[in-house]
Amino acid sequence: MRYLDHAASTPVRPQARAALAQWLDPDDGVLGNPSATHAAGRAARVAVEVAREQVAAALDARPADVVFTSGGTESDNLAVKGLAWAGAKSGRRHVVVTAVEHPAVREAARWLATQGFTLDEVPVGHDGRVDVERVLAVVTDDTAVVSVMEANNELGSCNDIDALAAALVDRPAVLHTDAVQAFATRPVGLRPGLDALSLSGHKFGAPPGVGVAVLRRTVGVEPLFHGGGQDRGVRSGTFAAALDAAFGAAVEAAVDDRHRLASTATAQVARLRQVATALDGVHVHGPTAASDRLATHLHLGIDGVEAELLSFGLDQAGVAVSTGAACAAGAAATSHVTAACGIDDAAVLRLSVGWTTTDDDVERAADVLVDVVTRLRAGRGLFDDGPVDAGATTAAVTS
Ligand code: PLP
Repeated sequence: MRYLDHAASTPVRPQARAALAQWLDPDDGVLGNPSATHAAGRAARVAVEVAREQVAAALDARPADVVFTSGGTESDNLAVKGLAWAGAKSGRRHVVVTAVEHPAVREAARWLATQGFTLDEVPVGHDGRVDVERVLAVVTDDTAVVSVMEANNELGSCNDIDALAAALVDRPAVLHTDAVQAFATRPVGLRPGLDALSLSGHKFGAPPGVGVAVLRRTVGVEPLFHGGGQDRGVRSGTFAAALDAAFGAAVEAAVDDRHRLASTATAQVARLRQVATALDGVHVHGPTAASDRLATHLHLGIDGVEAELLSFGLDQAGVAVSTGAACAAGAAATSHVTAACGIDDAAVLRLSVGWTTTDDDVERAADVLVDVVTRLRAGRGLFDDGPVDAGATTAAVTS
C-alpha cells in the first residue's frame, strides 16, 4: 500500500508505541488509577504529569493549562462550548468561526446558535485562508470565543493566527485555534492573545483516541461533562494514563522530527504536484505561497473523471488518498470547505504525506494517479488490461 493519507491518520511513532507498552504493562504489573493514592496509582499519575509537561513545553504553555481529552473533536468541543458557556456567565453570547472549520468546531458553534448564542461564520478566500480584518470586523465586546484554525485539514491553508492574536490581545473574546493539522510541521503554541488550542494525537504519531485542549488557566472554561473533575475540574473521567504517556512521547518525537518532515514533505509534495499537473485539466487548490500552506498537503481538482471511479481506481491500485471530502460517516459528500472556497471540480483529491512516506511511495502513487486518470478519461475500464495493480486498500475520506 502507498499510504498518502497522513492528514487523516498517521502511523504511531515508535516512541509512542514504547510509552504505551510500558504503561499498559508496567514493571509492577498494575496500571493503577492515577487518582488513587497508593503506589500503583501514584506511578500512573507520574506518567500523566510527565506527559503534561512534555505537551506544555512543546506549546509554550504551562502544565496547568493542559487538559487531556479523547482527541481533536473533544478538544474543539471543550474549547468552543466551554469558552462560550464561560463567556455567557458575563453576558457574552456571541461566537465567531470561519466557514471552513473542521466539523468539530463548526457543528459545536452551530449547536450553540440553537441555544441562545449568536454566530458569525466568516467567509474565506478561494485559497481557504481567512482575512484577519474580516474576522476582526465581526468581533464585539459581546464575543465570547473566536475560533480560527491554524491550518485547514483539506486544503492545508494556514491562517495568520499571530496577527489575529495580536489584535485580540486586549479584547474580552477568547481566541482558540484548532492546530490539529498544523502541529506536525509547524511550530504552534499559546502566545499573547491566543489562549486556547486543540491537538489530536493520531495526526502526528500518537494512537487515535487521545488529544489535548490547551486552555490558559487564567481563562474561564465550563466543562462538557460532569463527574469526578479529575483533570483541573474541567475534564472528568479516569485519566487514560497509557494513552496520555504515548501522547507526550509522540509530541516530543514530532517536535524533534518537525524540521526533517517539513523539508522532506515539501520536496515530496512538489514532485506529486509536478507529475499531476503534467496532465491536462488538473488544478492545484490552496494558497500559492509555501508559507501559507502546510508542507504535507496537496489538494487537486481533476477534470473529466468521476470522483467515485477515481477513488475506486486508486484504491484498487493500492494507493490510499482522500477523495471527495467528507469528515462525517465515511461517505463521500460535498465538502463545506471546497464549497466555501468556490471550488467546484467534479473530482477532488487530497494527497497528504507524513513521517513514514518514502520517495518511492511518492513515485509509485504519482504513476498510479496518472494511469488511473488516463484510463478513466479514455473511457477504458480500470481492469481492461488486467488489474491496474494488486493489493487494495480502502481509501479513507477526509478528516
Ligand atoms: N480538527 C481537524 C482540523 C482535524 O483534521 C481533525 C481530524 O479529523 C479533527 C479536528 C478531529 O480530531 P479527532 O479525529 O482526533 O477527533
